[in-house]
Amino acid sequence: MASHTHAALARLQPGAQHDHAHCIEDALALAEEVCRTRGARFTELRRRVFELVWASHKPVGAYTILESLRTEGLGSAPPTVYRALDFLLEHGLVHRIESLNAFVGCAQPGESHRGFFLICQRCGNADELEDPALAENISHSAGQRGFSARHMTLEVSGTCAVCAGRR
Ligand SMILES: [Zn+2]
Ligand SMILES: [Zn+2]
Ligand SMILES: [Zn+2]
Repeated sequence: MASHTHAALARLQPGAQHDHAHCIEDALALAEEVCRTRGARFTELRRRVFELVWASHKPVGAYTILESLRTEGLGSAPPTVYRALDFLLEHGLVHRIESLNAFVGCAQPGESHRGFFLICQRCGNADELEDPALAENISHSAGQRGFSARHMTLEVSGTCAVCAGRR
Protein backbone atom coordinates (compact mmCIF):
# COMPACT_ATOMS: atom_id res chain seq x y z
CA MET A 1 0.00 0.00 0.00
CA ALA A 2 2.91 2.32 0.77
CA SER A 3 4.22 1.90 -2.75
CA HIS A 4 0.81 2.81 -4.09
CA THR A 5 0.91 6.09 -2.21
CA HIS A 6 4.34 6.82 -3.58
CA ALA A 7 3.23 6.17 -7.13
CA ALA A 8 0.26 8.44 -6.63
CA LEU A 9 2.49 11.18 -5.27
CA ALA A 10 4.91 10.94 -8.15
CA ARG A 11 2.00 11.03 -10.54
CA LEU A 12 0.89 14.38 -9.14
CA GLN A 13 3.96 16.12 -10.48
CA PRO A 14 5.42 14.15 -13.35
CA GLY A 15 7.38 17.13 -14.63
CA ALA A 16 9.03 17.95 -11.33
CA GLN A 17 12.43 16.56 -10.40
CA HIS A 18 11.86 13.11 -9.02
CA ASP A 19 13.46 9.71 -8.98
CA HIS A 20 11.69 8.21 -11.95
CA ALA A 21 13.26 4.81 -11.28
CA HIS A 22 10.94 4.68 -8.27
CA CYS A 23 7.93 5.42 -10.47
CA ILE A 24 8.85 2.49 -12.73
CA GLU A 25 9.54 0.22 -9.75
CA ASP A 26 6.20 1.06 -8.14
CA ALA A 27 4.33 0.75 -11.42
CA LEU A 28 5.87 -2.69 -12.06
CA ALA A 29 4.99 -3.89 -8.57
CA LEU A 30 1.39 -2.71 -9.00
CA ALA A 31 1.12 -4.25 -12.48
CA GLU A 32 2.37 -7.58 -11.16
CA GLU A 33 -0.17 -7.41 -8.35
CA VAL A 34 -3.03 -6.62 -10.77
CA CYS A 35 -2.04 -9.51 -13.04
CA ARG A 36 -1.68 -11.91 -10.11
CA THR A 37 -5.09 -10.94 -8.73
CA ARG A 38 -6.74 -11.40 -12.10
CA GLY A 39 -4.84 -14.52 -13.05
CA ALA A 40 -3.47 -12.72 -16.13
CA ARG A 41 -0.02 -13.58 -17.44
CA PHE A 42 2.52 -10.75 -17.29
CA THR A 43 4.78 -12.27 -19.92
CA GLU A 44 8.30 -11.03 -20.60
CA LEU A 45 7.18 -9.11 -23.68
CA ARG A 46 4.18 -7.52 -21.95
CA ARG A 47 6.46 -6.51 -19.10
CA ARG A 48 9.04 -4.99 -21.44
CA VAL A 49 6.36 -3.08 -23.38
CA PHE A 50 5.00 -1.83 -20.05
CA GLU A 51 8.49 -0.66 -19.02
CA LEU A 52 8.94 1.13 -22.34
CA VAL A 53 5.62 2.95 -21.88
CA TRP A 54 6.75 3.88 -18.37
CA ALA A 55 10.17 5.09 -19.61
CA SER A 56 8.91 8.60 -18.88
CA HIS A 57 5.67 10.47 -18.22
CA LYS A 58 5.45 11.40 -21.88
CA PRO A 59 3.01 9.37 -23.94
CA VAL A 60 4.86 7.01 -26.30
CA GLY A 61 3.69 5.73 -29.67
CA ALA A 62 3.50 2.08 -30.67
CA TYR A 63 6.09 2.67 -33.39
CA THR A 64 8.65 3.95 -30.87
CA ILE A 65 8.04 0.86 -28.73
CA LEU A 66 8.54 -1.38 -31.75
CA GLU A 67 11.80 0.37 -32.59
CA SER A 68 13.10 0.00 -29.04
CA LEU A 69 12.29 -3.70 -28.99
CA ARG A 70 14.08 -4.15 -32.29
CA THR A 71 17.16 -2.37 -30.95
CA GLU A 72 17.12 -4.67 -27.94
CA GLY A 73 16.97 -7.72 -30.16
CA LEU A 74 13.52 -8.56 -28.86
CA GLY A 75 12.36 -7.90 -32.41
CA SER A 76 8.68 -8.65 -32.39
CA ALA A 77 6.22 -8.43 -35.22
CA PRO A 78 3.94 -5.38 -34.94
CA PRO A 79 0.82 -7.50 -34.22
CA THR A 80 2.58 -9.02 -31.19
CA VAL A 81 3.37 -5.58 -29.81
CA TYR A 82 -0.16 -4.34 -30.49
CA ARG A 83 -1.54 -7.37 -28.67
CA ALA A 84 0.74 -6.62 -25.70
CA LEU A 85 -0.54 -3.02 -25.67
CA ASP A 86 -4.14 -4.28 -25.86
CA PHE A 87 -3.46 -6.51 -22.89
CA LEU A 88 -2.06 -3.58 -20.88
CA LEU A 89 -5.03 -1.40 -21.88
CA GLU A 90 -7.53 -4.12 -21.03
CA HIS A 91 -6.14 -4.43 -17.51
CA GLY A 92 -5.94 -0.67 -17.01
CA LEU A 93 -2.15 -0.71 -16.74
CA VAL A 94 -1.73 1.90 -19.45
CA HIS A 95 -4.00 4.51 -21.02
CA ARG A 96 -4.27 5.48 -24.64
CA ILE A 97 -4.00 9.20 -25.35
CA GLU A 98 -6.27 9.50 -28.36
CA SER A 99 -5.13 12.96 -29.47
CA LEU A 100 -1.51 11.81 -29.67
CA ASN A 101 -2.17 8.21 -30.69
CA ALA A 102 0.19 7.22 -27.88
CA PHE A 103 0.27 5.38 -24.57
CA VAL A 104 1.07 6.41 -21.04
CA GLY A 105 1.37 4.37 -17.85
CA CYS A 106 -1.36 4.40 -15.23
CA ALA A 107 -0.24 5.04 -11.65
CA GLN A 108 -3.43 3.59 -10.20
CA PRO A 109 -4.10 0.47 -12.22
CA GLY A 110 -6.94 -1.79 -11.33
CA GLU A 111 -8.98 0.97 -9.78
CA SER A 112 -12.03 2.08 -11.60
CA HIS A 113 -11.33 5.58 -12.88
CA ARG A 114 -11.62 7.68 -16.01
CA GLY A 115 -8.93 8.75 -18.41
CA PHE A 116 -8.70 12.46 -17.74
CA PHE A 117 -5.37 13.97 -18.75
CA LEU A 118 -3.55 17.28 -18.62
CA ILE A 119 -1.03 17.23 -21.45
CA CYS A 120 1.79 19.77 -21.45
CA GLN A 121 2.59 21.08 -24.92
CA ARG A 122 6.11 22.07 -23.86
CA CYS A 123 7.54 19.04 -22.04
CA GLY A 124 5.04 16.53 -23.37
CA ASN A 125 4.18 15.07 -19.97
CA ALA A 126 0.69 13.72 -19.46
CA ASP A 127 -0.64 14.09 -15.93
CA GLU A 128 -3.61 11.93 -15.03
CA LEU A 129 -6.40 13.71 -13.19
CA GLU A 130 -8.34 11.95 -10.48
CA ASP A 131 -11.59 13.88 -10.28
CA PRO A 132 -14.71 11.83 -9.58
CA ALA A 133 -16.79 15.03 -9.43
CA LEU A 134 -15.83 15.79 -13.03
CA ALA A 135 -17.02 12.36 -14.15
CA GLU A 136 -20.24 12.84 -12.19
CA ASN A 137 -20.84 16.20 -13.84
CA ILE A 138 -20.38 14.74 -17.30
CA SER A 139 -22.64 11.79 -16.48
CA HIS A 140 -25.24 14.18 -15.10
CA SER A 141 -25.19 16.48 -18.15
CA ALA A 142 -25.32 13.49 -20.48
CA GLY A 143 -28.18 12.02 -18.44
CA GLN A 144 -30.18 15.21 -18.88
CA ARG A 145 -30.14 14.46 -22.58
CA GLY A 146 -31.16 10.90 -21.97
CA PHE A 147 -27.65 9.74 -22.79
CA SER A 148 -26.03 7.10 -20.64
CA ALA A 149 -22.29 7.69 -20.58
CA ARG A 150 -20.06 4.64 -20.58
CA HIS A 151 -16.57 5.56 -21.72
CA MET A 152 -15.04 8.96 -20.98
CA THR A 153 -11.79 10.47 -22.15
CA LEU A 154 -10.71 14.01 -21.55
CA GLU A 155 -7.46 15.37 -22.92
CA VAL A 156 -6.62 18.93 -21.97
CA SER A 157 -3.59 20.55 -23.60
CA GLY A 158 -1.70 23.47 -22.12
CA THR A 159 1.37 24.26 -20.01
CA CYS A 160 2.28 22.40 -16.83
CA ALA A 161 3.40 24.15 -13.64
CA VAL A 162 7.03 23.12 -14.12
CA CYS A 163 7.22 24.52 -17.64
CA ALA A 164 5.41 27.66 -16.53
CA GLY A 165 8.15 28.08 -13.91
CA ARG A 166 5.70 27.78 -11.04
CA ARG A 167 7.34 24.76 -9.51
ZN1 LIG B 1 8.27 9.43 -12.67
ZN1 LIG C 1 -5.16 5.66 -14.87
ZN1 LIG D 1 5.53 20.80 -19.00
